[in-house]
Amino acid sequence: MAKPETVEKMRRFAYNFAEKSGTVVNPNKEAAEAVIQGLAEHVDELGKPLCPCNFYPDKLEEIKRRRWICACDEMQIFKYCHCLLFTTEEGLPITEYLPEWHEGRQIYGLVKDPTPDKGRALSKPDKIYKALKEYVEERNLDIPDEEIRRFAEETAKKK
Ligand code: SF4
Repeated sequence: MAKPETVEKMRRFAYNFAEKSGTVVNPNKEAAEAVIQGLAEHVDELGKPLCPCNFYPDKLEEIKRRRWICACDEMQIFKYCHCLLFTTEEGLPITEYLPEWHEGRQIYGLVKDPTPDKGRALSKPDKIYKALKEYVEERNLDIPDEEIRRFAEETAKKK
């Protein structure tokens, strides 16, 4: 169990980041609190809010890479929170900026961004390309490099 003050700190972070990114903290309070609790446990254990919804062979190594420290790269690039902490008012994760072959699109279908003027602070072609390249390589997906590049260019323009 995380310290109550750490949980409170992460709760404040979640509501502030939701406001800043044009999302809401999942209206399903139980689901939201479970993620906030998981983030707080990682803060107490590791000193950083490592995403609680992934498995890591080595948590300390993962922290050095930074990509899954909340708000993670996926959230800041694609506005997609696979933990369902940052969602739409309906409690769904935004999937509009993900390619169709991404698991987010496959699970939830197309969920449009109700506030496209907010969030996606890191949505630049090189960041999108790098994140998707890693995604494809880690899962051994057969997606042509050219397609990833084109997707990255087009998605970055959606600002
Ligand atoms: S998926 Fe990303 S934004 Fe959502 S809780 Fe995990 S680290 Fe935070």
